[in-house]
Amino acid sequence: MNKKSKISIALALAVVGIAQIAYAVTVNSTYINKTAAEIKIADKNYTNPTVYIDRYACGEPSLSAFACGPYTISVGSRFLQNAENTYGSYAAKAILGHEWGHTIQFSRGVNQRAPYMELQADCSGGSYIRYAVDTLRYSDFLATAVSTARAYAGGDHGTPAQRDYYTRWGYTNGIDKCFSSLPRV
Ligand SMILES: [Zn+2]
Repeated sequence: MNKKSKISIALALAVVGIAQIAYAVTVNSTYINKTAAEIKIADKNYTNPTVYIDRYACGEPSLSAFACGPYTISVGSRFLQNAENTYGSYAAKAILGHEWGHTIQFSRGVNQRAPYMELQADCSGGSYIRYAVDTLRYSDFLATAVSTARAYAGGDHGTPAQRDYYTRWGYTNGIDKCFSSLPRV
């Protein structure tokens, strides 16, 4: 290998490195399972579900993100990757944190009128975000989570403003209060 080709390889590697910074992370099973492990710590006094990836574990017609009982979360990796690409780093983690909140509702038999089931799940997700920011140093996670929640608002999920409010409320007040004294806004 001559000197010139060594230099061009070094340049090519530098370009690849820059490209990797510009793109979102790959949302594969490693990323999803790592996220699940984080939420298990943040929500340790609550549920311990299994996260099934690309398995239609809830019998859903198309893959996105579902919880169907206290023990089961079912996600599509392409759906989560798309969220991460569109809304920024940790968007997929925010969605998983929300689904975790639904497993807690199932475990406690919570039944509230719409949109408060979904907003309580947002609150629960918000408390995981706080843990991730404070302990894992995931910068800008709250902003990404709020934009993700706003983007998927509507119907049973509440308005964008409600999703924004409850995500932040959970972030500030913590998971216990999401299940003991959730406000009605
Ligand atoms: Zn939900």
